[in-house]
Amino acid sequence: MTYTVLPRPGIMDISPYVAGESKISGSQQIIKLSSNEGAFGPSPKAIDALQNATKTMHRYPDANAGTLRQAIADQYGLDRERIVCGAGSDEIISLLCFAYAGPGDEVLYSQYGFLMYPISAKAAGATPVKALETNMKTDVDALLKAVTEKTRIVFVANPNNPTGTYISSAEMARLRQGLPDKVLLVIDAAYAEFVDQGDYTPGVEIVNSGQNTVMTRTFSKMFGLGGLRVGWGYCPREIADVLNRVRGPFNVSCAAQTAAIASLGDHEFQEKSVKHTLKWIAKTQAALQNLGLTTTQSVANFVMVQFKDSDTAEACDLYLRTQGIIVRRINSYNLPQALRISIGTDSEMEAMLSAIKDFMKSQS
Ligand code: PMP
Repeated sequence: MTYTVLPRPGIMDISPYVAGESKISGSQQIIKLSSNEGAFGPSPKAIDALQNATKTMHRYPDANAGTLRQAIADQYGLDRERIVCGAGSDEIISLLCFAYAGPGDEVLYSQYGFLMYPISAKAAGATPVKALETNMKTDVDALLKAVTEKTRIVFVANPNNPTGTYISSAEMARLRQGLPDKVLLVIDAAYAEFVDQGDYTPGVEIVNSGQNTVMTRTFSKMFGLGGLRVGWGYCPREIADVLNRVRGPFNVSCAAQTAAIASLGDHEFQEKSVKHTLKWIAKTQAALQNLGLTTTQSVANFVMVQFKDSDTAEACDLYLRTQGIIVRRINSYNLPQALRISIGTDSEMEAMLSAIKDFMKSQS
């Protein structure tokens, strides 16, 4: 392609984000385990609420998402004035980069950190910088060592996607303490609802302890609303003020606000979703290890499994596709020897495990 009108320097260096696939040509019935979307679809309460809201869709949404922010504040015990909603937490990540980093600035993240951090950093004109991980886990010392005069933002997904690993709240607090005050720490807790570890917190206490940490959350995972695009950030007042200046006034649609509010009211759905995920995380990791494969210790709603090499991972992916099963190759994270598999329903998980077992048999 030749470009007549040129974008700002750096934009053409961005490799577009590749989303999880949802189709296999020729296959009608697909088992989609490629985007960590939750096993049960949306809450029935969200579906009802959305159906009832269709007649008023000519109206613009509540520009401040006031009712949604109050519902989030009530569920998580937060101050509603410090919550900013976005079109997915992706939008909050992007707004933070645009507001706090630009040309000449560095945005730091960890080796296998979520890819939207370098993409959003580059889109803002800033330079993404990676710090190595240890055993596929965020390494606080490596992050601290990589900080320079130019560092503006540090992103840590906790738990991380695609590895599924996490660091303790004490480690996160140590990171915050070691960072200069002028550096913004963003704790991306997209998968927080699934974590059942005593030493983990999503980071609210760190946000509350100063003026330089934001926690981001999403309705796309445990709540199963990925298609509606709704997420939020919990911020110090000053940062909420900045985000409210740069975001679009109607950035969260009526449908998204309505469904998110209804989902927050469905505790039964939330409990069922978490319980099911915890059961299958343990079962899947054990079953894959029994086949001689290596898995990370995931605490999110997906498992990352490693094969002996990238050819075997690719062959397994292709075999799964012949069975109508889509998982995620993660070459873009420099993990070509691995596959990331989302937790689906009981029957989907059984079909996936049985297919991987057949594949491994064919290899021996
Ligand atoms: N953070 C992490 C770690 C994720 O895995 C994802 C989804 N892939 C997001 C943020 C973005 O989620 P959303 O924009 O749907 O809220």
